[in-house]
Amino acid sequence: MLRTHTCGELNMKAVGQTVTLSGWVHKSRDFGGMTFIDLRDRYGITQLSFNEESGDMLEQARKLGREFVVQVTGEVIERSNKNLKIPTGEIEIKVTALNILNASKTPPFTIEDETDGGEELRMKYRYLDLRRKPVRENMLLRSRVNLEVRKYLSEQGFVDVETPYLIKSTPEGARDFVVPSRMNQGQFYALPQSPQTFKQLLMVSGLDKYYQIVKCFRDEDLRADRQPEFTQIDCEMSFVEQEDILNTFEGMLKHILKEVNGVEIDTVPRMTYDDAIKQYGSDKPDIRFEMKFGELNEVAKNKGFNVFDSQELVVGIAAPGCADYTRKQVDALIDFVKRPQVGANGLVWAKYNEDGTFKSSVDKFYSQEDLAEWANVLGANPGDLMLVMAGDANKTRTALNVLRLEMGERLGLRDPKVYAPLWVLDFPLLEWDEETERYHAMHHPFTSPKPEDMHMLETDPGKVRANAYDIVLNGSEIGGGSIRIHDKEVQKRMFTLLGFSDEEAKNQFGFLMDAFQYGAPPHGGIAFGFDRLVALLGGQESIRDFIAFPKNNAGRDVMIDGPSEISEEQLNELGLKLDFSNDE
Ligand code: ASP
Repeated sequence: MLRTHTCGELNMKAVGQTVTLSGWVHKSRDFGGMTFIDLRDRYGITQLSFNEESGDMLEQARKLGREFVVQVTGEVIERSNKNLKIPTGEIEIKVTALNILNASKTPPFTIEDETDGGEELRMKYRYLDLRRKPVRENMLLRSRVNLEVRKYLSEQGFVDVETPYLIKSTPEGARDFVVPSRMNQGQFYALPQSPQTFKQLLMVSGLDKYYQIVKCFRDEDLRADRQPEFTQIDCEMSFVEQEDILNTFEGMLKHILKEVNGVEIDTVPRMTYDDAIKQYGSDKPDIRFEMKFGELNEVAKNKGFNVFDSQELVVGIAAPGCADYTRKQVDALIDFVKRPQVGANGLVWAKYNEDGTFKSSVDKFYSQEDLAEWANVLGANPGDLMLVMAGDANKTRTALNVLRLEMGERLGLRDPKVYAPLWVLDFPLLEWDEETERYHAMHHPFTSPKPEDMHMLETDPGKVRANAYDIVLNGSEIGGGSIRIHDKEVQKRMFTLLGFSDEEAKNQFGFLMDAFQYGAPPHGGIAFGFDRLVALLGGQESIRDFIAFPKNNAGRDVMIDGPSEISEEQLNELGLKLDFSNDE
């Protein structure tokens, strides 16, 4: 080994030892007769010292540039100027031998916790960015979470099975990435959006409990913080009901939080999809704080205020302790909700003063008694600010959700160190798509309707609920799954409902329907978004810095400069270009 120790482990106990370290020159401080160098590796930073006694080496040391790779041998000595902020800060190495292993160009940005490099530059030189402690620690966290997932699941009897990456294109939801086949010209593989059908086939195979930490690919227009390739913890179990899945994966989340973050959580609360939408305007509510929606139709309509009377829904929240908001602060909130991203028509406010009186933007229409009723519905207390919106039910709930989250943020109620998971249950089976004027599977076409809703499948499909569930953490969906259809006939009805002809269903999913004829067990599963989960465990919302080599918002890897064109020769080989060169 080119070292006896790492740059993160030596302390006062090692004083007097002769050691060899290798690493990168993080920083150097040259005081003429004395030079100090901070040597860095994955484990930390250790100070090296050179002085006049070092002879030629002093000159050499003074010339070392940032990020040079060096090996040093020397004695561990107590430092006169201690840095108690780092574990190695009480010692330094008095260097007796210096070996330059490699030179380095000056890096394009500083390798510091707070770098001067912008996003684009950091991504272009991601291998240098990864030398920075915060990014490196994210990678270590990711690896630790991966390991704990494997420990937990294998303990529970899950088998890690790899499923293929080169599969067949199916319209599962998003657009597929496709790969041309050279040996089958004119035909294409698709990269899996998820191993969904394969994991179901593994249940038919009797593997019983499957998992895989696996790459999935979706060719979607990139919204902020989406990656075209991402990682799932993908799982499936046989002979289970929804309750079994919830228990198993609640256990997994608890295990990870405890082992990785040292956090113990109680039983994960559950909420139906309908309640989530009514109370929070979102199917992934952040329940770190209350501020639940209150519906005001009964108490706010028909009081002469036209703006409310004509609308489908009047709904509000009570922001705790915000009754002292100034005109300016309230106006800022009104501007906030009117931005196109939020899309509200407006915002009505009512202050519930500490003295029990009310002051509102609609005092002309509502008496003190009326506003007291609002307060009652919204659960407002003296000192709170009631914020009310009206309009089309769906849109208004969505807009109020954004405002609720904003208020939560402003009030410091969204602490990233607090973990508040939630199961959202009983999702609708189908979702009406205005554009195509068709039903789409809300989860995917293999999701089982609730047996008690089955009778409405053809008559009132929009009302049918699914045995589908999501797990939400701090307002982000971290996983979702369902109990599957395991009966060929039900699966067929489902495809019909989704507008597949028998022919199309057979072409695309014939293999699955065939398999269902050979003793498919009842089964169900779930997939967690691994990148997002790790980001949340790292106390952040953006996934990019938890992926070693992510793509930018245009789906490009700016480091390797991909995607790229391919040669004429490759195109020819793939049959993607007509080759006229042999034509006479
Ligand atoms: N395959 C699903 C997904 O990618 C998850 C599942 O139903 O297990 O969302």
